[in-house]
Amino acid sequence: MSRYLLLFLFFTLSLFGKNEFEKLYWSGNSLVAEFEKHLEKDEVNYWHFYHKDSKKYKYIFDVKDGFFRDGVLKFQDKKFLDGIYVGQYKKDITRISFRNDREVDFKYKISKNKIVFQFQTGTKKKKKEKKSKEKEKQEKQHWIEFQPKGKKRNKIIVLDPGHGGQDGGAICKKYGAVEKDIVFYIAKYTAEYLQNMGYHVYLTRRQNEFISLRDRTRFANRKNADLFISIHANSLPKKGNYHSKNGIETYFLSPDRSSRAERIAMIENGRDFRRKKIRGVLHTLSSMKIVQSHKLAIDIHTNVITRLRKYYYHIGDGGVKGGPFWVLVGAQMPAILIEVGYVTGDRDGKRLNDRLYRKRLARGIANGVQDYFKKNSL
Ligand SMILES: [Zn+2]
Repeated sequence: MSRYLLLFLFFTLSLFGKNEFEKLYWSGNSLVAEFEKHLEKDEVNYWHFYHKDSKKYKYIFDVKDGFFRDGVLKFQDKKFLDGIYVGQYKKDITRISFRNDREVDFKYKISKNKIVFQFQTGTKKKKKEKKSKEKEKQEKQHWIEFQPKGKKRNKIIVLDPGHGGQDGGAICKKYGAVEKDIVFYIAKYTAEYLQNMGYHVYLTRRQNEFISLRDRTRFANRKNADLFISIHANSLPKKGNYHSKNGIETYFLSPDRSSRAERIAMIENGRDFRRKKIRGVLHTLSSMKIVQSHKLAIDIHTNVITRLRKYYYHIGDGGVKGGPFWVLVGAQMPAILIEVGYVTGDRDGKRLNDRLYRKRLARGIANGVQDYFKKNSL
């Protein structure tokens, strides 16, 4: 008997000066945490953060001198939150926490012996949903889809015409050549050829839209693409014999770099470039992906050169090289970048403005893709 009395005494004493948590319940859109005694504002400490590992937003309320006798309790609740927890965090702190995948919009107030969490009502939520739907729509409009025709090949190719919108890329007034337009049409023609070969193709952007470099590969990942091909045109500063420099070059992402690859990469990387970050990324590239991208680069490059040489003299062959191209970083599939010629070059500059030349070039790229899949029996 005395043992129980002792226990009872101990329990009562330990509660002395403590404010015991009593219950948790919903009242309309409000969640109410009720305590035994009145709460002061400075007794409730609120903070929140995003927990990266669990990918959840956490909202924490620590109640000073609180007491919760049941250890930790998880309240299952599907109304707004993934979980509501109450527990004795420290000897003198009771913790109430919410966890959710998305940010939770709510206010709280302390009223007598209660903490009342007021969640945003339905109308506001709907407004938000509407907004995000509109956003989605806008996002959808930036790319172009080419459904496969004829015999379907079950492969998805993302073609990425460089630059766009306010970013014109390389420009040569003398030949009226603007990179963003040249590469858009080449990408579009390539897409049409590939579509007729049975491939499912996407262009990362519409004719005059600007997309950040990272969003281009992100898009390809989201579409679960098998290949990512970025199409660009080169230029040289107007010095010396700049106009005599012509030729096609193809690049893949690799830690090995020639000084030329590095120079071109610097131009294409533009404002989005993060020099420190790319070094880290280059070291983590899988050799498998480098090899596959290298193969793809060779197949496309060879086909483009061969195709054009059927029709034109003096097609410059700048070769295939590895380089630190930011636009290729993050692509989860073999990825290459082709520089279809120098807009500042006397031959390339004129040719790149010609519709037929663009089409022939596009045909070369499409044949390269076909070759790549055939050779690798993919
Ligand atoms: Zn470019």
